[in-house]
Amino acid sequence: MISCEEYTKVRKDLFKKQILSMNRPPALVAIQVGNDKASSSYIRGKFKDSDEIGIDFTHVHMEEDSTQQELLTLIDELNEDPNIDGIIVQLPLPKEFNVRLVQERISKYKDVDGFRKDSAFKSCTPKGVMDWFAFNEVNLVGQDVVVIGRSEIVGKPLVNMLIDAGATVTCCNSKSKNIGFYTDTADIVISAVGKPKIFDFRYFSDVNIIVDVGINRNEDGKLCGDINTEHFDKFLPNVYVTPVPKGVGLLTRLALMDNTIHAYYLNGGK
Ligand code: NAP
Repeated sequence: MISCEEYTKVRKDLFKKQILSMNRPPALVAIQVGNDKASSSYIRGKFKDSDEIGIDFTHVHMEEDSTQQELLTLIDELNEDPNIDGIIVQLPLPKEFNVRLVQERISKYKDVDGFRKDSAFKSCTPKGVMDWFAFNEVNLVGQDVVVIGRSEIVGKPLVNMLIDAGATVTCCNSKSKNIGFYTDTADIVISAVGKPKIFDFRYFSDVNIIVDVGINRNEDGKLCGDINTEHFDKFLPNVYVTPVPKGVGLLTRLALMDNTIHAYYLNGGK
């Protein structure tokens, strides 16, 4: 398998060349309300990616005490601005905000996170994973794939994309009685749960690829995924597991760049 990191590098080089041939750089605006540390770090990552490939990135920082109406007004202005291609609102928002309402306010042609139900774009994490499978020529037809997690932005859209790709898909959630029963005989497992290292080698006897979407902090405060890879060397030496960090996070960020480039063309860019 070509790693997420290597794959991202190759695609970024291609994006860079593509952007050089455009009349103007694609323009992406990220709105942050308040000072959530994780949000600031995610936005820095998106800025770094944009900067590397030539996307014009603007970070609009609104004060913690901004109102939902102020945010909606800003989104309306950006929706109308022909020089802006993509708009993202970094989560979390202050708790009194209606997240769904805010997300639905972004034009479906500028919703490059792909959060709207009718968005012109695919949700970034599932798209990122599917594009990485395609790059690795993973033929999903007839593969038994287990997705653990059923959220609106990761689990559910992934299930649909995998079904469309011809896989036989099982989706587990927090109430599933015996997750190991499903994962043990699967070809591919994708975990999007958000609990540090909850699935260990005993879940994956016959699995070839594990995609670890989870981003968690372990007891030492370090980033880790949902998969505990201890003893994999001994019991599952041939299983490919995406790392955390430098795994699905990179694929998600790349998909955002890809969506922003598409938004530029949708917006009439040449
Ligand atoms: P979410 O909305 O909290 O959904 C978590 C899902 O996991 C829910 O469907 C939940 O089931 C299920 N679940 C919880 N505990 C479980 C258990 N013990 N066994 C089986 N299923 C369980 O989270 P999300 O937004 O999908 O994100 C999931 C994880 O991926 C988080 O760690 C998040 O930080 C990470 N993430 C990473 C990226 C990336 O770029 N790498 C992008 C997005 C998210 P119920 O529906 O029954 O509650």
